[in-house]
Amino acid sequence: MPASRIDAMDAFVFHSCVADGNSSLRHHCGIVGISSREEVNMPELLFYGLFSLQHRGQESAGLAYRRQGKIKSYRSVGMVSTALSHYLSESHPSRLGIGHVRYSTHGTNKLENAQPIVVSCSKGEISLAHNGNISNSELLQERLIAEGSIFQSTTDTELLLHMIARSRQASFRDALVECLGLIEGAYCFLLMHEDALYAVRDPYGFRPLVMGRRDGQVMFASETCALNMFQAGDIREVEPGEIMTVEGARVTSEKLPAPRELAHTQGTLQPRRAHCVFELIYFARPDSEVFGRTVHMARKKMGEMLARADTVKADIVIAVPDSGNSAALGYSHASGIPLEQGLTRNHYMGRTFIQPTPAMREAGVRMKLHPVREAIAGKRVVVIDDSLVRGTTSRQIVKLLREAGAREIHLRLCSPPVRHPCFYGIDIPTHEELISNRLDPEGIAREIEADSVQFLSMDDLRQCVPNPEDFCYACFSGEYPTPVRDAPVSKKC
Ligand code: SF4
Repeated sequence: MPASRIDAMDAFVFHSCVADGNSSLRHHCGIVGISSREEVNMPELLFYGLFSLQHRGQESAGLAYRRQGKIKSYRSVGMVSTALSHYLSESHPSRLGIGHVRYSTHGTNKLENAQPIVVSCSKGEISLAHNGNISNSELLQERLIAEGSIFQSTTDTELLLHMIARSRQASFRDALVECLGLIEGAYCFLLMHEDALYAVRDPYGFRPLVMGRRDGQVMFASETCALNMFQAGDIREVEPGEIMTVEGARVTSEKLPAPRELAHTQGTLQPRRAHCVFELIYFARPDSEVFGRTVHMARKKMGEMLARADTVKADIVIAVPDSGNSAALGYSHASGIPLEQGLTRNHYMGRTFIQPTPAMREAGVRMKLHPVREAIAGKRVVVIDDSLVRGTTSRQIVKLLREAGAREIHLRLCSPPVRHPCFYGIDIPTHEELISNRLDPEGIAREIEADSVQFLSMDDLRQCVPNPEDFCYACFSGEYPTPVRDAPVSKKC
């Protein structure tokens, strides 16, 4: 599509991957769940929780709540403020609800792939919201289809419900535990069944899930920023491999059995933790505490480490907003180079479902990021971004800064080179599309027309996170913490 036509489409909005600081990584979802001793306007509360998690998924939003013994649900494509706004002016008293925001990582962005999913089966009515990626879903799904199951969506989330429905265990809880023992990969699940809310996190702890309390309510969310908005207290992580059951405000907790690949050790060997390090680099909101560290502080440290390893002479440091903001501050503190606002970001762009062409990508970057000419002109500029994937967005940013008069442009990335696919819920382009598989930093600088490019080293990244051995770095190292059987996430989209 020619850029001129794009310019003319005033209602046109671009897919997130063309205009975030990062060019191509998309994460999967955000989830929220609430159990309340007293009846409250549950959809309204879920709306506020999901609104706080909007950055984790902007293509669809949905909620489910229990009212008069039945599960009511609503799902729509679009952002929370439009998809669910009608709930702000209606009252739906309820004690139990879950909600979900989604990117189309696994499964295309159709309404049937939006969540929460609600089914009625041999175990009764169940509603489910999922953040993550089941990495042996293809194998499990093939078996279920051979046995007669009919899938309505193309997401891996539906799989768990089919498995629970077919389980011979008499109770929902026993069926859930049995089925969780068969799935692999990254998952945080929130499920509603009868009057209980279940929260589950996979034994490796890939994705974050936290719990908090307030006024007779127990709340779960992907990130603490949602719980903080509710002014919840007693915040703690749902532990890796923990399954929590909540009825009213009463919480019970138990451990999941060891994952299948370690079952032969009969519980003597527990899986190592494998928190996704990209949650700290890019995905999570800066004010959230994720895996024991406030995201802003982790990113600031990344900037400091980049500066310590750098010898470049520059006049100003600027961030690619928003994910580069904290790291640019850290780089500036450590280097003594003044921080400037060299790029502003238009926060009012929505998201859409159109796959971008190169012309659309360029237009998308120009619509979203705007150089501040007077701050940049004639300056040697260090630009801080979170990561480099295809290199296409970085090339556009360099072009924007050159047009604004930057004398030199030195791109610094808060992560090591991305070289491998993800099997745990992050959509990373194919091996061939990843620029770091084709070029070294000098070659990348030439291709994107920057004066230099430098990555954060793996050793330095490990110094920015608490308990570095508890993290997954597989998209940098290719060392996967679990067996990988299915195609990577990007091939499933
Ligand atoms: S492979 Fe990369 S993106 Fe995927 S979970 Fe591991 S660190 Fe996160």
